[in-house]
Order: sequence, then structure tokens, then C-alpha cells
Amino acid sequence: MENIKEKIDELRKTLRYHSDRYYLDDAPEIEDYEYDMMMRELKALEEAHPEFDDPDSPTKRVGGRADNSFESVAHTVRMESLQDAFSKQEIFDFDKRVNETVGKTAYVVEPKIDGLSVSLEYVNGVFSRGSTRGDGDVGEDVSGNLRVIRNIPMKLTKPIPFIEVRGEVYMPKKSFNRVVDRQLINGEKPFKNPRNAAAGSLRQKDSIVTASRGLDIFVFNVQQIEGYELSSHKQSLDFLKELGFNTIPFYNRVNSIEEAFNCVEQIGEQRGELEFDIDGAVIKVDDFSEREQLGSTAKFPKWAVAFKYPPEEKQTELIDIEIAVGRTGVLTPTAVLNPVHLAGTTVSRATLHNQDFINEKGVNIGDVVTVRKAGDIIPEVLCVSEKRAEGNFVFPDTCPSCGEAVFREEGEAAIRCINPECPAQLLRNLIHFCSRDAMDIEGLGPSIIETFVDNGLISKTSDIYHLDKNEIAKLEGFKETSANNIINSVEKSKENDLGKLIFALGIRHIGAKAAKLLADEFKSMDAVMRASVDDILNIEGFGKIMAEAVVEFFSGESAHQLVSELEAAGVNMNSKTVIKDNRFEGMTFVLTGTLEKYKRSEASKIIESFGGKTSSSVSKKTSYVLSGEASGSKLDKANALGVAVIGEAEFEEMIK
Ligand code: NAD
Repeated sequence: MENIKEKIDELRKTLRYHSDRYYLDDAPEIEDYEYDMMMRELKALEEAHPEFDDPDSPTKRVGGRADNSFESVAHTVRMESLQDAFSKQEIFDFDKRVNETVGKTAYVVEPKIDGLSVSLEYVNGVFSRGSTRGDGDVGEDVSGNLRVIRNIPMKLTKPIPFIEVRGEVYMPKKSFNRVVDRQLINGEKPFKNPRNAAAGSLRQKDSIVTASRGLDIFVFNVQQIEGYELSSHKQSLDFLKELGFNTIPFYNRVNSIEEAFNCVEQIGEQRGELEFDIDGAVIKVDDFSEREQLGSTAKFPKWAVAFKYPPEEKQTELIDIEIAVGRTGVLTPTAVLNPVHLAGTTVSRATLHNQDFINEKGVNIGDVVTVRKAGDIIPEVLCVSEKRAEGNFVFPDTCPSCGEAVFREEGEAAIRCINPECPAQLLRNLIHFCSRDAMDIEGLGPSIIETFVDNGLISKTSDIYHLDKNEIAKLEGFKETSANNIINSVEKSKENDLGKLIFALGIRHIGAKAAKLLADEFKSMDAVMRASVDDILNIEGFGKIMAEAVVEFFSGESAHQLVSELEAAGVNMNSKTVIKDNRFEGMTFVLTGTLEKYKRSEASKIIESFGGKTSSSVSKKTSYVLSGEASGSKLDKANALGVAVIGEAEFEEMIK
């Protein structure tokens, strides 16, 4: 018995954890199918052991919680979840339960859109508020972000006194690919699937970000209405369409569960070809008075069921493994397969993630593998079903795009190419090179860089310094003045301090601050390039990973080539920190809290001009902590370590 209680507690805890990753972070760590199966296991255990009942169990609660960064909205009509079914038998069981209460009945079948549920309210036909589902009772007010979704009408075709509708906000596959592409270029963590992308984009603080994400909506329910009588689901969907809503596509009214199940299968067949993701089909009792008789449980209505398409699995031969270099330099292996039909599409490629994954599954070219397509768009190799080739596939040790050596960091699964001039990473590296904290080339933003690359004006980094204003002016959308401005800011960037240039090179683990410390320590690019791991470790705050990253970076031919091209183009290669006198030599300052007279960056500059250094963390080696208003943990640490703490007045004395 103890064991069962432990198992139940464990499942509840795990499900809650994954529910938070899914609903709060929009970044699930497991497949939906795995989550659903765990939920089923818990449900079965709870049913068999009612003595361990808990009203707070995930089986009884609608997933999600309202995040307190938005105003909360109490839903007058509960936004319920749906009971799920994974087999034909479960669908027929559902029909049996319905029949027991209301007799034989008609159903409406609809695709189940994989997005996030929202409520939209309209007063006198005008949009007044919109919110997320949250836990079903309390959601988040996301009106501002809903207003920027093109397909949500701000005014209905009829001035109904009040209506609240429910719909699913989703991200079309096309928008998803575009958004993920952008995230990869910017070095951000990409969304895992369109559902999480939709949720992450709708729950944004800034509506401009939401607007840029290309979200859409399908409306599928009237939650409440005043001034109109509706008696069936089909009637209400037709009415919603008339009001100007983008209603759920291809809904179908049928008179039997057999027909309903046929519709479910048909929707499943189309799944791969749709412009949006679906994770199932929903069968709903059509008649509203029957729905009332059937009622609801704490979590879902008894008059509807969601059929979830199980992840499909097939076996096929793995005929090749292709290695591609992503824009972040990571090498990713893709299995090339003998094409198989899977979940409505022909699958001929599947992801193999990384070398660890390949080793774990024991995969090699020539093996027969099982491929699975679950909620995600990209199918994956599940296991080897027939081992035909010897051993596991091993990654090449050079980059397939540029031929330079690739590296794998300790503790990291990814193998990457770190060549700053690798053609596969060109765009991302250029965007970084020109960005504000790097070479700060005003006017050379991401989309202009893309245009220049597409038009052949830039094919490697140093080309930036050979841009021709006449060539630029010839491009669509550019005039002589805009071309001149770009050339001027490129010229200006040649004078940047060495720290900015080091940061611009995009060395892994070397941020703007670390780049500046390198520049201050070694004074010239040449010395940085010659530095050993031990030399670099002398810099306070530098660890082994950072030091090795610098040495690895300059171990490649291309990094040297790039630096010499930049030097030839006239880019400054030396540290410009002017030392007034050396009174702070060998000293390290940590700044904390708000200073009255100086910004922190100004105070840092002063310290550096006297030969001192600044660091962001307090250690025994810290000489002084300069503390302003509202300083926190750093001050505590300084006191604990016995490091001298000075105020602004003392600092001014020291720099007089
Ligand atoms: P659900 O997604 O299974 O079903 C309810 C939802 O379906 C409603 O909120 C509704 O908005 C939506 N829906 C879409 N089209 C609809 C239509 N035509 N008619 C009616 N409703 C429609 O249930 P849920 O409680 O929202 O979430 C559970 C889902 O979330 C499961 O699929 C589960 O796998 C997934 N999940 C996954 C993880 C994970 O870690 N992978 C964690 C938590 C939840």
C-alpha cells in the first residue's frame, strides 16, 4: 500500500513539474504522448485507490496557472479541458455513456487545434477583453496582445449586447518556421513546436513582439451570449461565422458515432498537409439541451471527447546520415530514410540530434530503424529495429561546410564549428559583428545585412570594410544618403577599442565584458592571439572554459586570416584605454548599488583610466567594493570576506 501511495505521489509531482514547463515556461521537456500516458497511469491508480483521493491532483485540475505578470481574469463560464481517447473502443465507450443519459444523438466533429485556448468578450459588438484559460477559473488578461492578431475582429457584424467566445490561438507552420529561423540567427533558444511558440508569443509583455509572430485564431465555442438564443453547436458555429469570426475549419455534423469516427480518421489523414498543427479531433454532442443533461466533471464536459492521434511508428532503412551546420555552428545529423508514409505525410528524413543520441541508440548507416512522428513536426529515430551495419556512426572531425576542425566542449552534447568565417554561419556572425556591443555599425542591422549577403555585396566579414557606396545605392530601397550613412558608420567603427573587436569576433563564452578584460590585459590583438590558456587564466574572473574557448578560436586558420584582413582594412587592433596614472594598478574594484554622481559604466572607466580593473563578483582578491544606494548581496559578501568597502565620497578622494 505504501508503495502505491508513493507511486501516486511521484506521478503527481512529475506531472506538476512537466505541466509548469509546458504552461508557464512554454518549453516542454517531454512529448505530449508521454505526458498523457503518465496522466492515464495516475488516473488508473487513483480510481483503484480512492482512499488516496486529492482534489488538487493533476487528474482533477485543468492544466496551467495564471502568471502574475498579467492582470488576472476570473472566468464566469469555466474554461474546461477535454477528456481524451486514444482508441476506437474508447470513442464507442464515450458514445455509450452519452446514450445512457440522452439516448441516440447527433455529433459535431472538428479538428483539435494545437494552440492555446483564449476567451474573447464583446460588448455591443465591440471587443472588450481577452484572456487565457489559465487554470480554467482564472486566466490572464492578454487583451493588448490579442488585438494585434489580424483574424480577431475588433467589431462584429452585429451589435450583440454581450457575447463571450472561446477559440484556439495558434501559430501557422509557416510563421513557426520563420520565427525559429530568426531565433537561431539571433542565437536564442528556439521554440520546440508551434503550440509552445503560440503560447510564448501571446504571453509577451510587448505587443509588438506578439504582432511580429504571425499568430492566428480559430473560434469554436460560444461561452455566453445575451440577446440571442442558440440551441445547437452547429447553429452556433454558423452564427459565429456570420459575426465575422474565423471559425474552426471543416466541422461536420453527423448522426452516429460510426460516422463521427470516420470523420476523425479523415481529419487524421489530412494532418500532415494542413497549414497548422492539430493534435486530435473533437467529437461533441450537438444539442445544447442534451449537453445540459450530461453536465461536467470537475475538469471536463461529459458531452465531448478528444481523440488524440497516437504517435505513428514505422520501420524503414536508414540509407545515409547527413551532417548539416546550423547557423549557430552546431553540427546536426539527419537520417536519410527509405521514404515511408507516416501520420499523413511521406517521411524521408528524421533527426538524430547529436553523437550521444546516436551512441545511445546504436545507429549506423544501413540499419533498419523505427521512426516516430509524435506531436512535433520533425520525425525522430526511435530505435534500431534491425542491426545490419557494424558499430555506431561517428561524426566527422571537420566541418562539412568549411572544412575546419570541429570541437566538443566538456559536458556538452553539441559538436560545433567555431570558424568565424564558416559560410553556414555567415549571416549570424555578421549580425553579431555589426551589433551595438560589438562593432556598433549603425545602419547595418539584420535585414540590411541579409540583403547585402543575398546580393553578393558581402560574402565574408572583411567585405564590410570594402562596401562600395555606388553598389549599395543600386539596391532597391537604398538612396545615396542611406548608402553614405552606412559607409560613414563602417569607417567610424575602424576606430573602435580592441575590446569591441574581440567581442565582435563571436568567440564562445566571451561576452562584451570579458572581451574588454582581454583587451586590457593583452593590449593588442596580436598578444591575445598568442596567449596561452594559463596566460588568460591570470585575468580575474576567467575560468578554464573561457580561456580554452579563446585559445581554440585562434587555433583555426580562418580566425587569423580574418584578423589580418581586418587589419589590412584599417581596423584598430590595439587597446585604447588611456592610463592617466597607475595609482590603481593591480587593484580590482567591484561596483554595487546606485551611485549618485556616476553611472556604473562611468565609474568603471575612471577606475580603468587609473590602471585598475573592475569585476562583477566579490572575491578575496577584490581590493575595494564601491557601494552606492540599495546595494545588496555583494556588500554582504564583501563584509563576510573582510574586503574593504568604500562609499562615493571616499572614491572621489581616491581619484582626486
Ligand atoms: P487538451 O489540450 O487535451 O484539450 C483541451 C483543449 O483543447 C482546450 O483547452 C481547447 O482550447 C483545445 N481545443 C483545440 N481545438 C478544439 C476544438 N475544436 N474544440 C474544443 N477544444 C479545442 O487538454 P489540456 O488540459 O489543455 O492540456 C493537456 C494537453 O497538454 C495534453 O495534450 C498534454 O499532452 C499537453 N501537455 C503536455 C505537457 C508536456 O510536458 N509535454 C505538459 C502538460 C500538458
